Amino acid sequence: MGTLSELMAFLDASPSCFHAIQNLTDRLSAQGYTALEEGRSWDLIPGGKYYVTRNQSALIAFRLPEGRPTGFMLSASHSDRPCFKVKEKPELESGCLRLAVERYGGMLMAPWLDRPLSVAGRVLVRTEEGIRSRLVNLDRDLCMIPNVAIHMNRKANEGYAYNPAVDLIPLVGSLESKGEFDRLLAEAAGCAREDILGSDLFLYNRDRAKVWGAKEEYLSAQALDDLQCAWATMEGFLNARPGKSVPVCCVFDNEEVGSNTMQGADSTFLRDTLQRICHGLGMDYRSSLAGSFLVSADNAHAVHPNHPEYADQNHRPVMNGGIVIKFNANQRYTTDGVSAAIFRTACERAGVPTQTFCNRADLAGGSTLGNISSSQVSIHTVDVGLPQLAMHSCYETAGVKDALYLEKAMGELFAMSLIPGQWGVTIE
Ligand code: ZN
Repeated sequence: MGTLSELMAFLDASPSCFHAIQNLTDRLSAQGYTALEEGRSWDLIPGGKYYVTRNQSALIAFRLPEGRPTGFMLSASHSDRPCFKVKEKPELESGCLRLAVERYGGMLMAPWLDRPLSVAGRVLVRTEEGIRSRLVNLDRDLCMIPNVAIHMNRKANEGYAYNPAVDLIPLVGSLESKGEFDRLLAEAAGCAREDILGSDLFLYNRDRAKVWGAKEEYLSAQALDDLQCAWATMEGFLNARPGKSVPVCCVFDNEEVGSNTMQGADSTFLRDTLQRICHGLGMDYRSSLAGSFLVSADNAHAVHPNHPEYADQNHRPVMNGGIVIKFNANQRYTTDGVSAAIFRTACERAGVPTQTFCNRADLAGGSTLGNISSSQVSIHTVDVGLPQLAMHSCYETAGVKDALYLEKAMGELFAMSLIPGQWGVTIE
């Protein structure tokens, strides 16, 4: 079983989607999983353990049973978070040096101000062997987005509309530091400045994951949405006992910007991978899907202690209260009676509590991975998440117990196999 301190170490070591995927694939490699490449043929053998990545920011891991599989038991989470992406020409001169950035995803803006920030991501480097991608983390207090003093903006506490092109540009140094950002980047990538041909770089909050509260019941960190689920589903996947289905653990990128990218849940990545598994094992793709099940694991809103009125009266998840099953009549969450029943069975078997979430009937709420990946691979899906506060802040808060609940439940679910019938489903 993974532990809370392992989760915290994973969160601290994952300042970008690329780092998250690197850490997860390192974990898989250490457990004897073989890396497959989409550009090569796959030689799959029963009992084999594999993973494949796309764009270094999404991954699918799977393990083949010894016998003929009955279907796929899947999880999906996401590697990305709302944050700021560094623009191509990053240095802005205006009496000092600022870093040109733009928003990625739907963030809460205010938490980004007045705290040390740094930059992490990947750079593409020209080498003698060709273009190579290198992960970089500048890993130091590098820049800051300073607030305007109350004396200059007397209305700051009356609801302020941040303009990202004006208010949210980080200060990175004095004019004497011109060129320094590129130099730091090249140093981190171990190359000459002129050999950097491309980059995908993001700002991140320098605060580390912390456990706090009168009885240490809370965990705060960046990107709990959705690295908490990515970690817990992966641990559940690794620890599940062998079953008759193929356990598949997916982590997609770009959920925060709609998922319709090459490596998002709305891409062909999952379908391509499942079809290649079927081809390799002589399974029929379509009939395999009938006995398959997907847990879309993306964090959920706990009832806010200061604003309980935003929560539906009968559906108020609390932190440390267990895994949240999400429902929406208009299927922005995929959960229905069947998928809720299957997931509740897994949680019961694991001895893990569940809670339910519905939006207030007059609030729209968000959507997530489940209904998007269903359009590519149509299987029974349940939308679940771990209850948290301050979703899409750069420092979010959750309970210390819930990720461990999800890990246990997924350990049970990945070992199950489903035999679909006309009037229900038999679970083995
Ligand atoms: Zn999410």
